[in-house]
Amino acid sequence: MSEATQQRPQDLTRWRVEHHRQVDHVAAERAAADLLTALGVDVDTESTRKTPGRMARGLAELLTPTAFEMTTFPNDEGYDELVVVHDIPVRSLCEHHVLPFVGVAHVGYLPGARIIGLSKLARTVDHHARGAQTQERLTQRVAHHLEQALGARGVGVVIEAEHTCMTLRGARAPGTRTVTSALLGRLRQDPATRAEFLALTRRGARA
Ligand SMILES: [Zn+2]
Repeated sequence: MSEATQQRPQDLTRWRVEHHRQVDHVAAERAAADLLTALGVDVDTESTRKTPGRMARGLAELLTPTAFEMTTFPNDEGYDELVVVHDIPVRSLCEHHVLPFVGVAHVGYLPGARIIGLSKLARTVDHHARGAQTQERLTQRVAHHLEQALGARGVGVVIEAEHTCMTLRGARAPGTRTVTSALLGRLRQDPATRAEFLALTRRGARA
């Protein structure tokens, strides 16, 4: 894919994270009508006539990353312990079945020179979640984006999600959750910091 989320410009403390993707709404609606018809769904009743358009717009929304302002602040107090935010909602589409996977992310970092506005951790997760991908790649992308944006000494991301391609169809294994993690910097190298982060994420998962 040629497109890529814009990374941090040099020397900025506040910048816009955006991702450009062209959606051809007319073609998408036409294709949705063809797909539904091919699958035996009648799209010519009073209540389904607008279904192809709704389907195309719904998918476009799930596939299009939302832009946001990334804000960081100087770490004037020299805070050097883990910062962890639990249970950030994750909604994405698996690229193999284009069916939703839904769950939560736990995101932590070990601050360096700058700290991040806490809501931006959730914004970063949501930004990268919009798209068709694997949970493994989503986890890595969020971690690398935060590492790059913050110059953090360490970043950890754990995502727990239910994949509807596995729970509603195929294996039909309801209640199964897939857990992925990406640990960078000190969270990867230092066993004590890594253990502390993973313990904090488990505490969040139980709460
Ligand atoms: Zn799948």
